[in-house]
Amino acid sequence: QESIVKVENLKKYFPIKGGILKRTIGHVKAVDGVTFDIKQGETLGIVGESGSGKSTLGRVILKLLDSTEGNIFFEDQDITKLNNKKMRPIRRDMQIVFQDPFASLNTKMSIEQLIEEPLLIQTDLSKDERKEKVNSLLKVVGLRPSDRLKYPHEFSGGQRQRISIARALAINPKFVIADEAVSALDVSIQAQVLNLMADLQEEFGLTYLFISHDLSVVKHISDRVGVMYLGRLVEIAPKKAIYEEPLHPYTQALLSSIPDTDVDREREVIKLEGDLPSPSNPPSGCAFRTRCPMAHERCAVERPELIHKGDGHYVACHLYDDEA
Ligand code: SF4
Ligand code: MG
Repeated sequence: QESIVKVENLKKYFPIKGGILKRTIGHVKAVDGVTFDIKQGETLGIVGESGSGKSTLGRVILKLLDSTEGNIFFEDQDITKLNNKKMRPIRRDMQIVFQDPFASLNTKMSIEQLIEEPLLIQTDLSKDERKEKVNSLLKVVGLRPSDRLKYPHEFSGGQRQRISIARALAINPKFVIADEAVSALDVSIQAQVLNLMADLQEEFGLTYLFISHDLSVVKHISDRVGVMYLGRLVEIAPKKAIYEEPLHPYTQALLSSIPDTDVDREREVIKLEGDLPSPSNPPSGCAFRTRCPMAHERCAVERPELIHKGDGHYVACHLYDDEA
């Protein structure tokens, strides 16, 4: 299977300014050396607490933010250094759906105008063609043709997210990043929007990067899942392996905090101690060591690298490398 998106050792550091001269006194390492690929037609879920760098990762991949180091490939083309002009045709292939549809939708525009906007900017369809396309998009995301003339405030949160999805799909992208796309919705509505996204993926052959703080959300839709902690990928594996045989102590802790509905066994509850350390001053060695029940001496001095444990299951933890 071909990969459509690939990132290699991707980093995004934000400078911290301080003192009266506002000099750079340090960096927030929001994304700190992330490598993975996403196959054509696949959904890769990325989970992590807020502050883990997952949203920054999404923005850097779409080049809404410049990367600090590393490379981004889209359909085998290295897009890391492309300028805006060169990016323009590629941008049509990559879209993002954000968490709060109400915040990201201009409330003064009708639904028709909102869905038509990307068509106006990015295509040269005629007025009639655009109208036809808007109607078909409304249908595709489960809204009525008569909804065209309404305004965002007349819709529920779930319906507004359908409008955001229609906008994202208007110009036929190949790759869609969903950043906490269902997190603001009630659980029952979440399921509807996730099902819609899965159907659209089938219908249009989309590839998804699905970012969420919530492991139970990502579970529905992902083929593989990556877990981020303080800007680093600590585990990535096919979905079944992540949920049934998690290796990293952090993944195990995250999983033990969500209700286990599929597997008929008691899971030992691992409580995460303390808060996420500041990404501007992460712990030495393994960044998770201040909260890890399995931490040992080596964890303070040596940073664990992702190693392959077989069947596409990668983990970055000294418990699993050869010297353990
Ligand atoms: Fe815990 Fe050490 Fe593994 Fe980090 S490397 S997760 S501190 S055991
Ligand atoms: Mg976020």
